[in-house]
Amino acid sequence: MDKEIYVNISFDDLHPEKWWGAMNDKWLEELSNFKEKWSDIKYTFFTTPNFEWKDENEYISLIKRRMHLLWLRIPLLKFKKQENNKFLISKYPEWIHFIKKQTAESFFEICIHGNTHYQRYVLPHAEFDRLSKEQNLEKIHDAVKIFQTNGIKFTYCFRPPARWVNKTLKESLIENWFKYLSLEPRQTTLSFEKENGIFNIPQNYSIESSTFDNVFQHLQKHNYLFIKWHIFEKLENGIREETLRNLSNLLIQLAEKYKVTFIHIHEIEKLYNDNTLQNVKKI
Ligand SMILES: [Zn+2]
Repeated sequence: MDKEIYVNISFDDLHPEKWWGAMNDKWLEELSNFKEKWSDIKYTFFTTPNFEWKDENEYISLIKRRMHLLWLRIPLLKFKKQENNKFLISKYPEWIHFIKKQTAESFFEICIHGNTHYQRYVLPHAEFDRLSKEQNLEKIHDAVKIFQTNGIKFTYCFRPPARWVNKTLKESLIENWFKYLSLEPRQTTLSFEKENGIFNIPQNYSIESSTFDNVFQHLQKHNYLFIKWHIFEKLENGIREETLRNLSNLLIQLAEKYKVTFIHIHEIEKLYNDNTLQNVKKI
């Protein structure tokens, strides 16, 4: 056996809507089935506590986007959203109970994926598009409060909806005790910013790919791997039969070469302080 590697598997968009993380979704069963072969597998979910993004007809949505780019931003042209806080997690006590059970068993880790995942203009799911610092803070405080009020344990780790980062988002998060940020999808090396005391989480492998050359190349220099998925099957790297098969094949190949240890993101700080992780970039 070559060396021990630390693997984090994360998903975006968890919330209590059917196909996006509702309790009886089939995907959940599929993910739990991995426990049969990988008894210590664990997952990280970037969770949206008050999901409002509503998928519109793609052509109408495209026309609206074009108009918004011409600064035609009138209420009539705004993107549609879920009304009445339909997927506010507080409205789903059974779901909350279920999530708490999974986190208590260290099977799930909850991280934060925005507040509503919605904005009115330009891109319907890019919640943090062009927000001011004040607006950032309001959304972040509200999201944190929803988790706290419902007693859901979460990691101070943030990934922005639709990868959209505004100029003051990072400082807004740092000022609010966030320790782990996943703001840059193209980043492949874990980095630690000494001054701010934060870790920048990379994304090394998208489950869409059935070839693993990049993964093994990355593991020559590093002993960590961050695997990225979406929950909804229709999105890029969503949970589908092929992507589940990709994960299974990847884990089998990894285990042939390495000792695989699954980790949650909150475990990174300790591993880093113990000098366990290889070639973490220091900034
Ligand atoms: Zn998302």
